[in-house]
Amino acid sequence: MTVRAITTIGNPVLRRPTRRVSQDELATGEVQGLIDDMIETMRDAAGAGIAATQVGSSLRITTIEVSSNRRYPYKPPIPLTVCVNPTWEPLDDEIVEINEGCLSVPLRGYLRRHVNIRVRYRDRHGTEHIETRHGLTAGTFQHEIDHLDGKLIVDRIDPRTLSTWDEYEIHERKRFEARITEFTKRT
Ligand code: ZN
Repeated sequence: MTVRAITTIGNPVLRRPTRRVSQDELATGEVQGLIDDMIETMRDAAGAGIAATQVGSSLRITTIEVSSNRRYPYKPPIPLTVCVNPTWEPLDDEIVEINEGCLSVPLRGYLRRHVNIRVRYRDRHGTEHIETRHGLTAGTFQHEIDHLDGKLIVDRIDPRTLSTWDEYEIHERKRFEARITEFTKRT
């Protein structure tokens, strides 16, 4: 496993829609190695997830994992999940405003996400999964699948709420974490 360089906003690969991966291609050493490197890179950078575009690949793959994350201490745990060809759909109209960051963007800010969604994906062995996800975890899946459609948080964030991580820490973190922790208890 290798920690790869993370692409940042301005790199065209982040804006290119990704290509679906066939079952045969998924089984190759190249794609399995890419998945291993994505997991290693995500853990090294303390991301809640990473998309293939963030390590320079245009394949429709993302990995997600949250366990006592230092960037996002309020996020509930998510066991390691490898999503190949993921899609999602909302289950209802409930929306939550989340302050999000991204390993590829040096800012964070408020955007709106669906609270209750259904996700479909294949795991790294090609097995199909259809699952419902809720709350901040649903937000993490939407964030990663956005990457695979060439979208970044700056496309969704209210620009007046954009903040550096340092200013967020001073001015926003307490308020946001209090609200989102209450929200998480309810979802
Ligand atoms: Zn991101």
